[in-house]
Amino acid sequence: MRIDVLTLFPELVTPALNASLLGKALAEGLLEVAVTNIRDFATDRHRTVDDEPYGGGAGMVMKCEPLFAAVESLRPVNSLERVILMSPRGMPLTQDKVKELASYPDMVILCGRYEGVDERVAAALATEEISIGDYVLSGGELPALVLIEAVSRMVPGVVGNWESVETDSFYDGLLGPPQYTRPAVFRGMAVPEVLLSGNHAAIRRWRRKEALRMTLRRRPDLLAARSERDELSKEDKQLISEILREDGGDLNKENR
Ligand code: SAM
Repeated sequence: MRIDVLTLFPELVTPALNASLLGKALAEGLLEVAVTNIRDFATDRHRTVDDEPYGGGAGMVMKCEPLFAAVESLRPVNSLERVILMSPRGMPLTQDKVKELASYPDMVILCGRYEGVDERVAAALATEEISIGDYVLSGGELPALVLIEAVSRMVPGVVGNWESVETDSFYDGLLGPPQYTRPAVFRGMAVPEVLLSGNHAAIRRWRRKEALRMTLRRRPDLLAARSERDELSKEDKQLISEILREDGGDLNKENR
């Protein structure tokens, strides 16, 4: 997969690409990320990329011309089928969206700055707008990195053990189960016995049940959505009944 990032601040994006799992994936060629400076496509003497908003008002707006030229310059190396504008008014980024984007061979990510970009970029250059949450950052660079890291985890080989991706929160629409590591008892707090039992079937069932319990307590909306789509297995329904019996219907009670 190839990802092209268009930004006015490459220095914010490039260093973060080289660390940890993402850095390793890039070094191994599992993923290619190219960062382009939008300012390189400004044509005037001052390399202008922004201008005052028509109609007046605060701040500056990113101009069309450098953004269109920067994206079009990628045509030899990118299909330009997915041109994503990072924007607080975009569709919220979800794990389903991440999975969908990971199924394409390439994408372009546009990072806005200032008051945002000229609306004609959203209308005629971007194929979609994506938001990383209901808050406003000063630029699209951190949102772009969030998107790249999330998508990269779906690329085979980036996360060494695929099982760890499948058990992550949201992968199958649930929050992840609790995790523990050594020591077995810390300050009087013991690891659930089943995890020390070596009984893989019992461990798998416990993890599924605790993932369901966590989701029922913290994100019942996720479970309701699965139920509406008829995506709860017979075992899930059985486990939910057990949880409701155990917690006496008090879903706010946290596990201790
Ligand atoms: N005036 C814009 C608005 O109200 O929607 C906000 C502009 S913001 C200061 C500058 C840039 O940061 C945006 O163009 C976008 O690229 C990026 N940005 C800020 N918050 C974001 C978010 N929650 N998700 C994705 N991108 C965001």
